[in-house]
Amino acid sequence: MYCQVIVDIAHENVARPFTYRIPEGMRLAPGQRVTVPFGPRQKDGIVLRLCDATDYDEKKIRSVSGTPEEEPAILPPLMELAEEMAGKAHCPLAETLRLMIPPEMRGTRVKIRTRRMADLAVSREAAEAALAEEKRSRKRREILEMLIRESPLEAAAISAAVKDPAEALRSLEAAGLIRIREEESLRTPGAGLGGDTPWHSLSEEQEEVLEEILPALERGKGRFLLHGVTGSGKTEVFLHAVRRTLEMDKSAIILVPEIALTPQMVSWFRGRFGAVAAVLHSRLSPGERFDEWRRIRRGEARVVIGARSAVFAPAERLGLIVVDEEHESTYLSDHHPRYDAREVAESRCAREGAGLILASATPSILSFARARRGDYTLLEMPRRVKDRPLPEVTITDMRQELENGNRSVLSRDLIRGLKETLERGEQAMLLINRRGYHSFVSCRKCGYVVKCPNCDVSMTIHVREDGGESAGENLLRCHYCGKTLPLPTRCPECGSAYIRYFGAGTQKVDAEVKRLFPGTPTARMDVDTTGGKDGHARILETFRSGRARILTGTQMIAKGLDFPQVTLVGVIAADMTLNLPDYRSRERTFQLLTQVAGRAGRGGRPGRVIIQTYKPEDPVIQLAARQDYRAFFEQEFARRRISLYPPFTALARVLVEAGEERAAEETAGRLAEAIRRELEARPAWRKKVLMMVAEAPGIKFLRGLHRRQILFKLLTGRETEELCGWLTELAEGAGGEAQACFELNPISMI
Ligand code: ADP
Ligand code: ZN
Ligand code: ZN
Repeated sequence: MYCQVIVDIAHENVARPFTYRIPEGMRLAPGQRVTVPFGPRQKDGIVLRLCDATDYDEKKIRSVSGTPEEEPAILPPLMELAEEMAGKAHCPLAETLRLMIPPEMRGTRVKIRTRRMADLAVSREAAEAALAEEKRSRKRREILEMLIRESPLEAAAISAAVKDPAEALRSLEAAGLIRIREEESLRTPGAGLGGDTPWHSLSEEQEEVLEEILPALERGKGRFLLHGVTGSGKTEVFLHAVRRTLEMDKSAIILVPEIALTPQMVSWFRGRFGAVAAVLHSRLSPGERFDEWRRIRRGEARVVIGARSAVFAPAERLGLIVVDEEHESTYLSDHHPRYDAREVAESRCAREGAGLILASATPSILSFARARRGDYTLLEMPRRVKDRPLPEVTITDMRQELENGNRSVLSRDLIRGLKETLERGEQAMLLINRRGYHSFVSCRKCGYVVKCPNCDVSMTIHVREDGGESAGENLLRCHYCGKTLPLPTRCPECGSAYIRYFGAGTQKVDAEVKRLFPGTPTARMDVDTTGGKDGHARILETFRSGRARILTGTQMIAKGLDFPQVTLVGVIAADMTLNLPDYRSRERTFQLLTQVAGRAGRGGRPGRVIIQTYKPEDPVIQLAARQDYRAFFEQEFARRRISLYPPFTALARVLVEAGEERAAEETAGRLAEAIRRELEARPAWRKKVLMMVAEAPGIKFLRGLHRRQILFKLLTGRETEELCGWLTELAEGAGGEAQACFELNPISMI
């Protein structure tokens, strides 16, 4: 017997499988991990398939050295998925297989953690009899007494009560009275989350939606787009769908767009289903992730909650995948091999006979368009639970504020609102989509803006808050590469002392709130405060428990969070995202504003939202204030049809990066020429190209590299897929001093 193995080599990409002999007595299956000789070394690999015969020279074939476990690590449908993804992304199978196994199981290995347990080996009566007989050793008596009271016990608990028990334990074991064994001890993240929570009686809308979903799940299919306004109780719908899935003895995966949202979702699911809920994401400790993954693989955990990569969870008998806040761009992975978790979910559901629920209060234009076309069943929940009203939204014109002499980042309306909220003992959230204190430094005299030496972007001013000696000091930081510099006191360009700071970030807003409401406890949530494994959970808990009354944050606070005490939401600068040069900035702004507004008034008391803007007449801001998704969709869809943006076309680019500007320029020029020639020769491909421009991207220098891009607007279709495959290979093989890659519909076009 032989097997074909995909050898896992981190840096070279060995695309083809290698054939090995299966030694006598070794049982292997596709998806199983193996160690194989590869050149002079031993390498890890995955069995792709078994075969009876081979065309290779019998004598040259080497044998599989070993396998770390009996069971395949990658289930058959996930093997198929990896093959499908490799085909689509035009990348080696080894790369997509890596997505299916946690990094802990490759290279440096995490160990299974064990603990020593002591257990009575005889009946309680027999043990009591032995205790009565035991005259010689006080330690043996004490240990027996402990185990009669409770058994099994951890050896550590015995050591804590009895000094140096090793000898006594050994002799009790030798006498056949007790058993000592090593038992696997699982590292379970968030074990304390979620007490026992009761099931709500369903609202009429929840009832109706579930009447559609549950029968589909029973038939092992159904693709739904659940459009429910914020606070309509979508989570409760997921919980019921999962309950039915578990009753059918199947498993479920719940995806959330950010790690910050996992603790809340985990506590809801642990509260209803207990330990069958597991959590998977990249911020777990290696040990926790290893154990959770194995708990899922063994079927002990059948509800998996996690961020994007949890879509690859080894859940067997998959019955349901939920993608919550499906409109979020975090479902697109930004590193190689790139994938869209929504697409992967859809592919898994189709292959494994599971139902799919995409859910959002502001579905992506693409998903809503697909639902209208009939690809998904559209389910709508237009009202909040318990007839709670949607929050009342007002728009504040910041130009007016300036005219009236208010230079604060907070409008008078918002300050008044905060004051009233605090007086009523309620909570508020403030959204500003930039971290740091000020957004940039500029010279009043010559207009110079301080830019990062590694990137073509302005640097942000931060107040150091690490608690060390330099805490409170100001510094400049680049949000792209992390570079920090001391704050200049004179203009580096003209030497003038008229250096001024502009724009506000989360630190500034938080400081302003503290200045206006001294003594009020506040919290801040952004990339800088949520480092570490529990960063998010800690801040959210502080706010949930009321130990902070005003939470300031970036878009991290906008989505999904459910804090019933929040009655006021302030948006500091609604225009910030609207002005970005990206065809999606209108969609993203609408989503962000609607989502953050949805955080207000989720408990019994009505909510209020104040949107501060310099463009109060902008239709996106107006529609977001009215929370009118349908109207926004119609407008945006029409605009995209006219301007030929996705879903009517695809945007793509070849991105070239090099240390030397000349090399980037040259490579981009050479690639563009090659593409032109190919298109010349292939009219079927050429017809799909609506636009092709070679240019410098929005940021032409990033992390020390000069950049160029060749931008495409493409009609969709089979020929386009072929063209994209060709472009991928062309970019990979660019050679020379530059790196090039091809990106189809990238998350960001900068
Ligand atoms: P969404 O995700 O749609 O914004 P959630 O699922 O977070 O809304 O629900 C909003 C709030 O309403 C939560 O606190 C939830 O516990 C509560 N809730 C949901 N369904 C019901 C119900 N049927 N009865 C009472 N409260 C409910
Ligand atoms: Zn100057
Ligand atoms: Zn930088």
